[in-house]
Formats: sequence, structure tokens, C-alpha cells
Amino acid sequence: MNIYGDRGNIITLLQRCRWRGFGVRVTPVSIGDGLDPGEHDFYFIGGGQDREQILVCDDLSREKGDALREAIEEGAALLSICGGYQLLGNHFLTYTGEDLPGIGLFDVRTVGGDTRFIGNVAVASELAGVDGVLVGFENHSGRTQLGSGCRPLGRVIKGYGNNGEDGWEGCVYRNAVGTYLHGSLLPKNPRLADWFILRALRRRHELAGLAPLDDSLEEEAHRAALDLIMREKRWRRRLRRS
Ligand code: GLN
Repeated sequence: MNIYGDRGNIITLLQRCRWRGFGVRVTPVSIGDGLDPGEHDFYFIGGGQDREQILVCDDLSREKGDALREAIEEGAALLSICGGYQLLGNHFLTYTGEDLPGIGLFDVRTVGGDTRFIGNVAVASELAGVDGVLVGFENHSGRTQLGSGCRPLGRVIKGYGNNGEDGWEGCVYRNAVGTYLHGSLLPKNPRLADWFILRALRRRHELAGLAPLDDSLEEEAHRAALDLIMREKRWRRRLRRS
């Protein structure tokens, strides 16, 4: 699935690897395709509306789901956005009553609500190795509750996040992250992009860290997204405090 430019996350990871001289192979995986848990070091699933989720959830919850869980247990990294994040949880009950099975990678459950959470988001990262504020855009009706088997990605400064109530955004299990942040997310959050690259590389290589890149354009994009939020007066104080 891919919505609101989620594919930009793949382009970002590819480019940041190439700039550092790493070769990368991208394999699109569609409905009915097999998935070998030992073959890839990083997995991505973007967002989609309920309609698209209904189309992919059966296929995902069978062998693909088993393979994904196995890959993550073996150290692979994964990013899932919004509709993808929901389907990697235990269960998603849509607002219109469809009961969609998840693959149970993340200990979360999602229930569709009668209003949509839409807008720019700022999140104080809780991810070890990624400091500061993550920025993105959300548009979802699903409300996600975290179980005890995963940690949140961060604390919402502006926006709704997982459910608009408990202040948490996203979830983390091992090297797998689920989040509501579209945007695309990684082009303007380069430290998070590098977190995934390093985790993916460490699956097969011993590596202390990554060579730094000139991130001035990426930092400018991050600042521009924050500026948009800062223009909304009531968020200014909360952002300054975090
Ligand atoms: N169908 C989901 C919801 O509205 C996901 C939407 C999305 O991926 N943007 O909650």
C-alpha cells in the first residue's frame, strides 16, 4: 500500500544508502507473492484507506504475516505507515464494521471512529538513538491502543497520534516501527531514516555507525514542517517546551 507519498520513504532510504556507497535492491511484494524471511533486511508497508486494507489483509495475515514476524525476530528492520501499521497489529475493526485480522507483529488493536484525525503532526521521539522532534502528516479514522508488548514511537506534541487520547504516537517492537506519520516521513526526518539503515545493515554486518551526510536540505524541510505548526499559535509553547 502507498498513500500521501509514502513511497518517498523508500526513495529516501535508497538515496541515503547510495550516497554512502551501499548497493540496494528493492523488491516490490504484491498480493499472492511469496516472502522469504531470510532474504531482505528492511521491509516497508505504506498506508491505505479501509477499502485497500480489506483487499490486502487476508493475504497479509497468512504466510506473509508469518514471514514478516520471523524476519523481525531475526533482526530485520521494518517501517509501516497508518493503514499498514494497523494491519500489522492484532486486529482492526473498521468504522463500517469490517473485522480485519492483523498479523500480530505489534501488540496493538485499532477501532475505526466516526471522525477523522487530519493534520500536521509533531512528535517528541522516544526511540533510542533518535533524539528530537519527528514531523509528519496524519489522516486516519482508526484509533490505536498499545498493548504491553510494544513501546510508543513518541509523545504527541501537536496532532492526534495513535488515538487522540493517551498522547502516544506509533509503536516500536525490536527494529520494527508502526506510525501514523505520512508526509513522506523519512525525507524530512533524516535521523530516523538512518536509524532504519543502520538496523537493516546490522542484520548481516558489524557496523558501529554510518558516515554523516550533508543534511542541510533535509533539515530545512524539517524546519519548514515545524514552522507550519508553529504558525498555529497554541502549539508554539508546547513545541518550545519539548
Ligand atoms: N483506513 C485507515 C484509517 O482511516 C488508514 C488510513 C491511512 O492509511 N491514511 O484509519
